[in-house]
Parts: sequence; C-alpha cells; structure tokens
Amino acid sequence: MKRLRINIHNHSYDILIQRGILQEVPQRIRERYPGRRIALITDRNVYLLYGESLHRLLKEEGIQVGPILISSGEEAKSLDTLQRIYHQLVHFGLTREDLILTLGGGVVGDIGGFAAATFLRGIPFIQIPTTLLAQIDSSVGGKVAVNLPQGKNLVGCFYHPVEVVIDPQLLESLDGRTFHDGMAEIIKYGCIADPELFQGLLTYSREELRDRLVDVIYRCCSIKGLVVEEDETDRGWRRILNFGHTLGHALESYYQYQRYTHGEAVALGMLYITQRGEALGWTSKGTSEGLKSVLSKYKLPTQLPQLDRDKLMEGILMDKKSRGEFIDIVLLEEIGRAVIKPIHKREIRSFFGIDGS
Ligand code: NAD
Repeated sequence: MKRLRINIHNHSYDILIQRGILQEVPQRIRERYPGRRIALITDRNVYLLYGESLHRLLKEEGIQVGPILISSGEEAKSLDTLQRIYHQLVHFGLTREDLILTLGGGVVGDIGGFAAATFLRGIPFIQIPTTLLAQIDSSVGGKVAVNLPQGKNLVGCFYHPVEVVIDPQLLESLDGRTFHDGMAEIIKYGCIADPELFQGLLTYSREELRDRLVDVIYRCCSIKGLVVEEDETDRGWRRILNFGHTLGHALESYYQYQRYTHGEAVALGMLYITQRGEALGWTSKGTSEGLKSVLSKYKLPTQLPQLDRDKLMEGILMDKKSRGEFIDIVLLEEIGRAVIKPIHKREIRSFFGIDGS
C-alpha cells in the first residue's frame, strides 16, 4: 500500500492507495473509529457497483449505516440535493461524533464534502473517490462545493477529510471517455511538475499503465498535495494547477458543458497555450508536439473547433481566477516546468493570438 501524508496547518491526514483496499474499509473503520455511525453518501450508479456491498460489509462489522443516494451527474451537485442530504442526516440522527463516507466521483466528493463541512458545523469525513479524476484531483486539496444555477462551484469552502482511500481497481468499471477525461489531469501533472511521468505516459502500453496506476496516482496526489500544502486557499502557487484551465473553462462554458468533458476542454487549453507559448518565445520549441502526441494517445482532442472567437474571449475574460486587471496564465517553459504569467486584460486578446498578432 502507498501512503501519502498531507499536512495542512494544524490538520494532517493520509491518502491510502492500493488495489482492492475498498474491501478493507469496513474493518479499518471499526478499528479506527469504534462506535461511530456512518452516513454513506454516494450516487445511484456507484451504489449499485460498489456501495451496496460496502454497505453490507459495514453492517457485518456491526456498524450502523445510513445510505444517502443522490442522482449521478453534475446536475446533482445542487442546493436541492444538498438540502435532501441534510434532511437525511437529521433523520439518521448523525452527530459530530459520527462519520460521513463519500463514495463516488468528484460530484459526490464535492457535495458530500460540503455537507460534511457544514452539517452541525462539521462532521469528520472519509473520501473514497471512484473516478480517475476524483482519485488524482478532486479528492485532494480540500475544496468542497455545490453549483448554483449561475455557475459552477459558487458555494463552497475548504474542508479536509480525515482520510482518503483510493482503490484503482474501481476504475475498471469506468467507461472509456470518463477514464480519458481523468487522463487529461494526469498529463497536466506531468507537464507542470513531473517530466518522468510525462515520458512514461508517452511510452506505456495499456497494460503497463494499468499495472502502474498505483504509482501514477501516488505521483499526482503528491504533486497536488505539495502545491496545496504551500497555498491551501488558491491565492498564489496553487494556480499552477490551472494549467490549460483558463481556455478549458471558457470552452466548456462556450458549449454549455455539452460538447467537451472537463478533461477534453483542458486538453485543448493545455495544447493551445503551449503552442502560443512557443510562438511568443516563452516555451521551448517542440514542447507542444510532445504534448499533442500524449493527448492523442489518450484519445483527447487536439484541434480547436471553428468557433466565434470573440464569444470565447468573453469567457476567458470572465475567468474566476482573474485578479483585478490581470489574468494569471500558466505556461510551460518546458515539460515539467511551469510558470504563472499575469497578463493584463488589455493584452489578453493578442496573447491568445485572437487579434491576429
Ligand atoms: P462524476 O462524479 O459526475 O462521475 C462521472 C460518472 O461516473 C457518474 O455518472 C458516476 O456515477 C460514474 N462513476 C463514478 N465512479 C464510477 C466507477 N468506478 N465506475 C463506473 N462509473 C462510475 O464526475 P467526475 O469527473 O468524477 O467529477 C466531476 C466533478 O468534480 C465536477 O463537479 C468538478 O467541479 C469536480 N471537481 C472538483 C475538484 C476539487 O478540487 N474539489 C477538482 C476537479 C473537479
């Protein structure tokens, strides 16, 4: 088993990574958290795949479990669902001495984590992420949130779990597109901080990747963990994780979240910004070719579609991470080394090459 310790101010917790570790969770909880009751928050898909048996195994350990099932998909990350979760927590009689378990992808982790952060001013929770994206990204760093009709993640806070339990075996039931969606974020970690990981991704066969997943997930969580330890609340260095996301978010919203998955949009964002970086002399020549190869290998798009560039630009200028007149753009100097460049909003069009310069 791989174990990674995350230290945030006065709170430390472990990320445990091992194939098959889900089976060990009930016994672990009985031993480490004796007498606690468990609210098991999951979505309906994941409940059928893994939640039902986890529920049964927890009961066999003598643990009282209240399952809370939400719909699957982004629409479920809403205030309505949150309210239903609160009602069920009250009905179950959960107290601060008990525990919440979130079992699912980023949606379940984000809304379940936010419920844990806010119900009775905070219930300890364990995250068991079940998508690749959740295992390497959303379960690390303590951001929990729900969406509003006006935008994604507009209500949220920072709240860390007491433990994250990652079982790569659970990824075997993911459909190809959802798996590749998560690969985009793995490629991002290689680009910004780990050239060896990037090289590996270029050369691994399918089987090799599968056999190395524990290590790959560990490396990604380590990078995110280090960045978050340095800048928990996303005011400085954590923005490095935003590589490819300024354009990626604008593309997702341009197509109203229908055309691209998050990872696909980020893939296009990473490639485009790297091509621009090369054109502007900030990124070493050839970087974008390597990136394009790895993205294609994992079935991620590499060609920006024909679109209304002015409208796309509006999306870029609305970037949530902008600071006054500046937008922080993450660029690669080379694979494994990223920098944050604050670009004045006045110059953003020419930076993106949208006014022909
Ligand atoms: P998701 O949670 O919607 O899961 C995608 C689909 O896969 C769902 O239908 C789900 O039921 C299904 N699924 C989950 N695990 C499965 C498994 N093992 N086998 C088969 N099917 C499975 O999507 P996601 O991509 O995991 O997460 C996206 C969310 O994560 C977004 O809301 C995003 O805002 C959030 N996010 C949060 C952070 C953070 O730091 N908190 C970071 C990145 C993304």
